[in-house]
Amino acid sequence: MNAPGRPQVIRGGLVAFPGEGDVRPADLLIEDGRIAAIVGPGQPLPEDVETIDATDRLVMPGLVNAHTHSHLALAKGISRSWTLELHLHNGSWTGGGQNVDDRYLLAQASAAEMLLKGCTSCYDLVLELPCPSPEGMFATAAGYLDAGMRAVIAPMLADRTFWQAIPGLRAALPEAAQASVDAITMAGADVNLAACDRMLAQWPHPRDRVRPGLAPTIPLHCSDDFWTGARALADRHGAPMHAHLAESKIQEISGRARYGHSLTAHLDQLGILGPDFTAAHGIWLDADDLDILARRGACVAHNPSSNFRLGSGIANVPAMVAAGVRVGIGSDACSCSDHQNLFEVMRLACYLSRTASFDPDDWLTPRDVFEMATCGSARALGMQDMIGDIRPGLAADLVFLDLGSVNFTPLNDALYQLVFAEEGRSITKVMVGGRTVVEDGRLTTIDYPALRTRLNERARELMAANAPRRAALAAIEPYVQHFCVGLAQGRIELTQDSPT
Ligand SMILES: [Zn+2]
Repeated sequence: MNAPGRPQVIRGGLVAFPGEGDVRPADLLIEDGRIAAIVGPGQPLPEDVETIDATDRLVMPGLVNAHTHSHLALAKGISRSWTLELHLHNGSWTGGGQNVDDRYLLAQASAAEMLLKGCTSCYDLVLELPCPSPEGMFATAAGYLDAGMRAVIAPMLADRTFWQAIPGLRAALPEAAQASVDAITMAGADVNLAACDRMLAQWPHPRDRVRPGLAPTIPLHCSDDFWTGARALADRHGAPMHAHLAESKIQEISGRARYGHSLTAHLDQLGILGPDFTAAHGIWLDADDLDILARRGACVAHNPSSNFRLGSGIANVPAMVAAGVRVGIGSDACSCSDHQNLFEVMRLACYLSRTASFDPDDWLTPRDVFEMATCGSARALGMQDMIGDIRPGLAADLVFLDLGSVNFTPLNDALYQLVFAEEGRSITKVMVGGRTVVEDGRLTTIDYPALRTRLNERARELMAANAPRRAALAAIEPYVQHFCVGLAQGRIELTQDSPT
């Protein structure tokens, strides 16, 4: 780690600039954790600087994960062949039974994986049942802070359960199943908002590292009063907002049944959308929805690996870009993409865009998705003035990749190989704010063997504690699946009168 205050120079590297879409040799002068100057290779720099040799290295800004959920960090490999709805049906055991100590532990687990895979900032949407606690969010933030990572921490908010949110679903369950899901309750909007107000007012951490946001989780899961209350709170405290929007066909169908128009139009009518709003997924959006999001300056967090895993559909990112919507890239939770690897996600985003058109001019290029996973995601976090690119004044959040690795040999086009060949294995060093947090593939901020032991212990404990609820929900799952598949396939139709 560098001595505090002593400038550093990263010399001899090939530098990837996502904002410019360029890769060229350059030296970087780092002062007080920020990029102070970018100079041509070998140009004179101030004396008394610590030199970091970047020969044979590709230096890029840290990737930014626009959408994840640390409370599901223990859920790798747990989900079966679940759609989003079956994933939500099982959510109270896959991420349930946790306490405030778990918040810190699981933030550390998430940070460890992301940092090792070249991601230095994330937008973390955290669920606590039946209501978020300020202490839980503070502990999550502390987990990231101690790992040396930046994050926006947004409690997930809802005053309706999954079974209440989809019109007709609860009524379609057998009576005993209705009683079973009725036993799972959410706190009311007032209780949620009071907790969030306290969290925002009492936030104890440096906001340039970890800052709070608000995440009314899914439009249908929050009453209108809850939405407008959350927006007022966000405005009062200058906190960004984030929600899952039109992630599944069922959500979009249900939204039109409940509101008489699209989910996006509904949020817009409530005055929710703005430049500080990030819409996760955005798969089932039409041209009017994209136009609304573009006019409001909102961002979309594109999560292709999660969308594949859950069979949610294909987000038309080229159409979003054409409409003027800013797009960031996210991994989503370990329960629905099992990993936090933005290299994999960038590659998927690039591939997936090829399904939208037969014309290759419409496809996303490696340059496009690299920009999305850095500058675009930084904007989703509201940190675009601080991270996401390499230019003077931005934080020195940097990832070093070995150009001698098999992924870059031979070196034909660093940007194409970064997106189409790299999986994170070439990473040798990661810095956040000029501080080295990964060196030679190892975390410098976390005792990983100790963390691993604790995570394995806690995963076993929670699996055992959640077993009764898991079994109860498994018994109901076929009914939920039957209803939701019927809805998606058009065999079941909803009206505004469908019971909730
Ligand atoms: Zn999510």
